Amino acid sequence: MGPKDANNPLVAPAAKPGAERSSVHHLRRRPHAKVLVVGGGINGVGTFRDLALQGVDVALVERGDYCQGASGASSHMIHGGIRYLENGEFRLVRESVVERNRLLRIAPHYVKPLQTTIPIFSTFSGVLSAPLRFLAHKQHGKPKERGAFLIKLGLSLYDSFSRDGGTVPRHHFRSGERARAELPSLRSDVKYTATYFDASVHNPERLTLDVLQDGEKAGHAAAGEGNAQGNTARASNYVSLQSMTGQPNPGTGRGSTVRLRDELTGEEFDFTADVIVNTTGAWVDLTNEAMGAASTFMGGTKGSHIVLDNPELLAACRGREIFFEHTDGRIVLIYPMGDRVLVGTTDVDADMAEAAVCTDEEIAYFFDLINHVFPDIAVTREQIVYTFSGVRPLPRHDATQPGFVSRDYRIERRGPAKGTEGTGAVVLSLVGGKWTTFRALAEHLANDVLAEIGMERKVSTAQLPIGGGAGFPADEAGVQKWIKAHMGAGRDADRTVGLLTRYGTRAEAVMEYLDGARDRLLHSTRELSVRELEFMAANEQVGHLVDVLIRRTSLAFRGLVTGELLNEVADVLSGPLGWDAAARAAEITHAQEVLQRFHRVEIHSLVT
Ligand SMILES: Cc1cc2nc3c(=O)[nH]c(=O)nc-3n(C[C@H](O)[C@H](O)[C@H](O)COP(=O)(O)OP(=O)(O)OC[C@H]3O[C@@H](n4cnc5c(N)ncnc54)[C@H](O)[C@@H]3O)c2cc1C
Repeated sequence: MGPKDANNPLVAPAAKPGAERSSVHHLRRRPHAKVLVVGGGINGVGTFRDLALQGVDVALVERGDYCQGASGASSHMIHGGIRYLENGEFRLVRESVVERNRLLRIAPHYVKPLQTTIPIFSTFSGVLSAPLRFLAHKQHGKPKERGAFLIKLGLSLYDSFSRDGGTVPRHHFRSGERARAELPSLRSDVKYTATYFDASVHNPERLTLDVLQDGEKAGHAAAGEGNAQGNTARASNYVSLQSMTGQPNPGTGRGSTVRLRDELTGEEFDFTADVIVNTTGAWVDLTNEAMGAASTFMGGTKGSHIVLDNPELLAACRGREIFFEHTDGRIVLIYPMGDRVLVGTTDVDADMAEAAVCTDEEIAYFFDLINHVFPDIAVTREQIVYTFSGVRPLPRHDATQPGFVSRDYRIERRGPAKGTEGTGAVVLSLVGGKWTTFRALAEHLANDVLAEIGMERKVSTAQLPIGGGAGFPADEAGVQKWIKAHMGAGRDADRTVGLLTRYGTRAEAVMEYLDGARDRLLHSTRELSVRELEFMAANEQVGHLVDVLIRRTSLAFRGLVTGELLNEVADVLSGPLGWDAAARAAEITHAQEVLQRFHRVEIHSLVT
């Protein structure tokens, strides 16, 4: 039996036998790999890339679409995590600040500096309770508000972590009067503001794809270009791990056999590996249970966000993240993402048998927190264009309140003792792991795998540009120059900017494809063309229509999905993905259901 839970929304419509996807074909043709990574969130994909770069024969399976779990539900912050200082998590904060600075350099196409302002309403509060938390790592009772003194202390420490290779300016404080001059809509009794820089990832889904494709490319290079059969880094979405039979690889007598299921066709097949890396996030225990070795590592918490189309709130933020403590002690955020405003988040113990969705209660909480700092700005439910929710893969916690559970990660090992000739796969389970630290974590996990299989690290990922971050223009003047150089036949400046924003410098390869034949923009949006959709279908493992709306583009996030768009995208994808009329209609219905159930987006349109 495979893992069962309610948080797997996208494995639908009904599985149908059909032409085999090439990603599945490559797994089935050679059903062995030295290492199998289970789970295609950012941590699994990051580990896949790192191992592929070392020349390891590695495969990855993701039961839904890449980045559909917690990795697609984050607050989009690439941050040192200033608030973890009060949990005493100095190692994590230091590593996070270093990784934040690194990602600004190696993934500049998606990771951008984020000016962050904390409004502060008191001077000394929280000073006594915070050091106690440093010692106990626990939060007892209602948290005390963090005063200016404490925040100053935290930010100074934060800056000191940034000193080596720092790429962002140091923090500064403003008095209430100056703060209101900078942010006039702020509550009038604000005593100070503290402003510092973190970073945000504008397109986490696409960054995950870039990391994945770097890994696949390294596998092709290792096997020799053009030798797809010998590729040593293979990955497929919509393939789930169902169970483990325990039989070793018949060829080598080592490792274990697992049963995989193609979620788009319902077909199952066996696959063997010496090492299995369980990066299934909040589902780690369920995956271990499916492999016959139950664990109790995880204690995920649910967090939700809303996306608002509210120009007044957008203007009030003045391009900054407003990061502050709400009345219940939770740290919450309001920040502009393009022409929308992201508001989050909650932190409640998750029940994995229940789907993670943003509730009415959470929406009321978000409206309340907006009112806490911007009391004169009206917000209505009609302005919500999208909501999303996910489960943080946190370690099991008992007395500790969700907001104070450690955000650090650890790796749990199960299997034959190191250095023995015991059979059976070694299973490494990842417990925890934030977006921000994915590269360092992947390096750590890959080092553990290399030690298991007796290989040495050949390549460091520390300075290696990711995907379309390679050669990305360093400043606005560079961007303008790039755009001028890449405008052309039927491609105006807007379209060129759109492609650079979506793909980074990988846009060059996309443009080459677009220019290969006649192309036209869709009628329902000027942000996509027919050939670009065909490119995605051929190169980006699109499994369902909804993948394009939520994870290959940000159209759903920005509330731009219409009935016309659903029908038009489905029309174009039907050819390359082999959908007949019934499958096309089922895809539209599925997309409508996913958007309605998990994102509170109602699309009233009939299939045409
Ligand atoms: C509300 C919220 C806000 C957050 N904000 C931030 C932030 O601002 N900054 C930050 O750094 N971090 C943030 N995080 C944390 C961060 O998003 C996660 O810790 C990180 O994305 C976890 O990635 P992962 O790959 O470990 O797990 P996931 O992304 O959850 O990936 C696990 C994958 O495993 C797959 N899977 C499960 N079972 C199987 C199976 N049997 N077979 C195959 N595949 C399977 C799932 O479908 C899923 O895609 C936030 C998290 C949440 C929920």
